[in-house]
Amino acid sequence: MKVASFYSTNADDPDVYHDESTCSPGSQIPASNKAYGTGGYRKCKNCVAISG
Ligand SMILES: [Zn+2]
Repeated sequence: MKVASFYSTNADDPDVYHDESTCSPGSQIPASNKAYGTGGYRKCKNCVAISG
């Protein structure tokens, strides 16, 4: 399911944003590291695959 774009503020995480609720790496981002928007990053490959 499509959700508002978000990304991780953890520098160790890939520089991508997510917008699918079922994205596995996206759903593993803890709330404390979660920021809304794209962060100027490109979309996560996993989210691209989910959205088709
Ligand atoms: Zn994703």
